[in-house]
Amino acid sequence: MNRRPGFPARLDLTRGTAQPVRKPLSSAATGTASRAATVQPPVAVPAAIRAGAPGSLAALPASVGMDSSRVRDRMVQRLAAQGVTDALVLQALAAVERHRFVDTALVNQAYEDTSLPIGLGQTISKPGVVARMLSLLRQGSPGKLGRVLDIGTGCGYQAAVLSHLATEVYSIERLRGLHEKARNNLRAFRLANVHLLFGDGMEGFAKGAPYAGIIAAAGGEAVPQAWLDQLAVGGRLVAPLVTASGQQALVVVDKSAQGLRQTVLEAVHFVPLKSGIA
Ligand code: SAH
Repeated sequence: MNRRPGFPARLDLTRGTAQPVRKPLSSAATGTASRAATVQPPVAVPAAIRAGAPGSLAALPASVGMDSSRVRDRMVQRLAAQGVTDALVLQALAAVERHRFVDTALVNQAYEDTSLPIGLGQTISKPGVVARMLSLLRQGSPGKLGRVLDIGTGCGYQAAVLSHLATEVYSIERLRGLHEKARNNLRAFRLANVHLLFGDGMEGFAKGAPYAGIIAAAGGEAVPQAWLDQLAVGGRLVAPLVTASGQQALVVVDKSAQGLRQTVLEAVHFVPLKSGIA
């Protein structure tokens, strides 16, 4: 297994057309990047929340009646018992408050291993699937990944988890409503290394390339050429793909100096990868 390359932590976004949007609240046009927040850094988030940071558990309905870090720890223990062994992935899942990414009515289910609706016909992936895909993405990389492209921001949960595992996360969503929702969800986390993009993820995001990792939460008929082009040599792509049988399977693509190597893994059920924006 090749090691994933490290990359410079910061991109020069001053060249070309797409620019980061400086005001976190303004709406990003197609293909432009906006920062989820501008304040440093993600590491202290769980401690702050345990200490009762504003807007954390106060937002939970009384019926939840739980210390969310303990509930998350139990979720992580269950994932470990199911075979997730990557300590960094488990730590990242323990750190991110999944209940803040789902509707109030679903908060009670936030730490169950289930996918949940997030609006506009889309779903937040099961924690078990997120753990599996992130473990695959990290396989062979001892430390943090460099830049990662996250296709299908949805509610922003996976991007938040990734922020603990990669130096920079570029997360792209084709539905404006969800792009906005993710920005709202992520604002309080103040993750300076998460960059939310509104656009067609099938085109990737060339300005962030090359990527140490590319991960998709929506499954198409083929891996878009742009993703393969934008993947670094030594990088890895993890995505659902519709196979010859018409079912979706998880696919891993490794890019080396010798070329691309594709591995088809277990069956999965993701929303379809669609082109264009809406
Ligand atoms: N990782 C997300 C999962 C969201 S579901 C989360 O944690 O919530 C997958 C998302 O992929 C949907 O929001 C869907 O709109 C989006 N999607 C589908 N095709 C896309 C494309 N071409 N570009 C960007 N996003 C896409």
